[in-house]
Amino acid sequence: MSVEMTNPQNPPSPETVAARKWCEENGSRFEGQLTFGENLAKHTYYRIGGPARIFCIPKSVADLDWIRECVSHSKVDAFILGLGSNILVADGGYDGLVIKTSRIDISITLQGDRLRVGSGVAVSSLLRRAAQEGWSGFEMLTGVPGSIGGVITMNAGTHLGEARDRIRKVETFNLSTGVLRVIEGADLQFEYRKNHFLTRDEVITHTEWEVTLSEPAQVKAVIDETLARRKASQPTEYPSCGSVFKNPRDHGIHAWQVIEKLQLRGHRIGNAQISEKHPNFIVNLGGALASDVRALIDLVKSRAKAELGIEMHEEVKFLG
Ligand SMILES: Cc1cc2nc3c(=O)[nH]c(=O)nc-3n(C[C@H](O)[C@H](O)[C@H](O)COP(=O)(O)OP(=O)(O)OC[C@H]3O[C@@H](n4cnc5c(N)ncnc54)[C@H](O)[C@@H]3O)c2cc1C
Repeated sequence: MSVEMTNPQNPPSPETVAARKWCEENGSRFEGQLTFGENLAKHTYYRIGGPARIFCIPKSVADLDWIRECVSHSKVDAFILGLGSNILVADGGYDGLVIKTSRIDISITLQGDRLRVGSGVAVSSLLRRAAQEGWSGFEMLTGVPGSIGGVITMNAGTHLGEARDRIRKVETFNLSTGVLRVIEGADLQFEYRKNHFLTRDEVITHTEWEVTLSEPAQVKAVIDETLARRKASQPTEYPSCGSVFKNPRDHGIHAWQVIEKLQLRGHRIGNAQISEKHPNFIVNLGGALASDVRALIDLVKSRAKAELGIEMHEEVKFLG
């Protein structure tokens, strides 16, 4: 456990105070990592944002049950974090409990034509393994820098497809009830960058995917080609959250084309900039504030609506 000084300008809610006290009294039963005032910028790809009052990295379902007890006792707000590649944290941080899911389960096991993958597995690790073993079916996640839990939540994908194409089973733990749920078949409902089956308090613990056994070299070739293509078109040299806006599909246009039409390519507020290379990325040039990024997002939304009649919706999630 680590200790944080309380900012008198921004006092914690009574629920957060109660949760912290509960954590301090019961911390010995928690096997994962528990810190107070953890800097969330360290846990997001954007490298932006203030601290979480309570931050934990559970190592097992038993740890999740400990968190359930804490939440039930204190009524503290809780947020489920993956690898933070699609999150913008507010400059003032988060007055609640953040649960980083990257260590609940990081196993990958082949069972027939199914691959069982823990929710904490990073997509990059899965793809590395897929290329070694010749497991085809995950190429559509090439270059997505999140965890498997985040990929399912977001129905992440690329021009090659989306998570929903291959996912067959999702297992969750409910932070309110402690119930373990298995979701499969017709219950696995998705749409573009969204799922329809998770409730707010469900943590994905395990997943199962349909895999096609193939030649390792073939799988590797598709991954390498897709990575090269992304590197050429995306501003990978700066921290970002990837695409900020969903494509406004009803208008038959890509989000980057909307921003281009508004002549906002390269537009800068503070140290945040609409990327010169790919206008649907807002990059952190170094020391950008969440408020700078939010101001650019608001600018795009208001001008797209006023000048083009297009409602833009964020793909990025906000915390705090
Ligand atoms: C450079 C860059 C490129 C990107 N390219 C793409 C792309 O090509 N295609 C694409 O779809 N996305 C892309 N993204 C966005 C991002 O990588 C995906 O949305 C990814 O799936 C998020 O995973 P994560 O683990 O980082 O989740 P986070 O960003 O931490 O969280 C995203 C959401 O998932 C929820 N969540 C995470 N883990 C769990 C869990 N175990 N249980 C329940 N809920 C959970 C969170 O509460 C949150 O709502 C890109 C991002 C970056 C930075």
